[in-house]
Parts: sequence; C-alpha cells; structure tokens
Amino acid sequence: MFDHAETVSAGNLERIAALGGGISVQNRMPFQGTAFAQRYGAEAAALAPPVTDMLRHGLPVAAGTDATRVSSYNPWVALHWLVTGRTVGGATLRPAGQRVSREQALELYTLGGARLTGEEEHKGVLGEDRFADFAVLSHDYFAVPADDIPHIESLLTVAGGRIVYAAGEYEGLDETLPPVSPEWGPVAHLGGYQASPPPSVAGARQADLLAEAVAASEQHRRWRAARGFAPEEPPAFLDPCFVL
Ligand SMILES: [Zn+2]
Repeated sequence: MFDHAETVSAGNLERIAALGGGISVQNRMPFQGTAFAQRYGAEAAALAPPVTDMLRHGLPVAAGTDATRVSSYNPWVALHWLVTGRTVGGATLRPAGQRVSREQALELYTLGGARLTGEEEHKGVLGEDRFADFAVLSHDYFAVPADDIPHIESLLTVAGGRIVYAAGEYEGLDETLPPVSPEWGPVAHLGGYQASPPPSVAGARQADLLAEAVAASEQHRRWRAARGFAPEEPPAFLDPCFVL
C-alpha cells in the first residue's frame, strides 16, 4: 500500500499495478500546494497526486484527510480539493483532467477506503449485512455550488449503531462522548470545528484561520519569551507540527 503518492511517476503507477498495490491519497496539497508549486513547478503540482491516472491504471485508490498531523479532519475540505483542484487559498493547481467528479470523490472517501483495507463487503456503501455508519448532512453534496462543498457539516452522525454527533433538529440525540484524543489536538482547545451557518467560516476558511491563529500566537509567544514574559517552550497542547 502506498500513501500520498504526490510525486509518483507513470512508470511507478505501472509497477504498483503489477505488484497488486493500492494508493491512499491525502489532503495535504490544499494546504501546501502553493509552496509545492513554487518549489517544483506548476507541471509537477498539477500531477500531485495524479488521481485520474491512478484510476485509469485500475488501481484501488482511497482518499483521506491526513488529519491530525498535516490537515484538518474535515473531509469536505478534501472533497472540495479533489473536485475543484484548488487549494484553500484559491490557487488552481490541478487541471480538469486530474480532477474527479463529485461521485468519484465520494467513492474514494467511502468504498475506496474499504477496498484498500479489504473491507468492501462490510463498509463503504449502505446495504444489507453492512455497517450502518452514516451522516445526515446540512446540505446536498451533489447540489451545492462547488465553492460551498467545504461548508457542508454533519447534522447527525451514526457510527457503530450509536449517535455520536447531533446538531440542528437532531440536537440532544447524541450520547456523551469520551474526551477528545489526542488531548493536544486543536479541537480539544478550540471547541470543535467551530461550526457556523453559511456563509460561514467553516471548512477551508477555518483551516486558514487556524493556521493564522497558530502563527500569530506563536509569534506573540516568541516576542514574550524574548522579553522574559513567557516560557521558552511552546504551549504543550500544540503538537510541534502546528508550531510554525
Ligand atoms: Zn500524511
């Protein structure tokens, strides 16, 4: 199994296919795509990763968020990137030929993951004798303008037969969950994914704001540390990868 595969070549795709391998693409480029393009060029960024080429080779392809190390866990930011080819800053890196339809993007996130782990008989689609993990969404993913995909939120999330999240008309139906893990995760300190109704600062904009807030607070901490007002070490709840 191969992960990310942002720099995989056409020859490598053939080798992976010959080995019977599969690829899991991750939602890194929406955040780091502009820096990647500056370093390696627009041509390389357009194929980072070459999702439609992977599918043409018949490879099992799954998609993930890369949370919580690189990206937000919000799948809608990732689906927006797969469909539009744009970063959270609005730069279009992926040409039309390397984007996928909304149906394909959703399949990469559901059945694609189940195929990669050999669980396609049980997960990935709703049906008899399959897991009934599902979410009721705030908006129709197939109908909203593409720019609104990152704003979609769950109103009801059912996992393993339990209601683990409920909002809006379902509010109060969810059970009390254990504390957020890992405890240093921003979600544990910022109160969830800061849900708000559209036009909201959800999704991609939230990711921007989080990065700005982390950068601003880290600069402020360094300024204070240099003057003896704050400890030298960054706050313990921030994983080192969040300290810019
Ligand atoms: Zn990763």
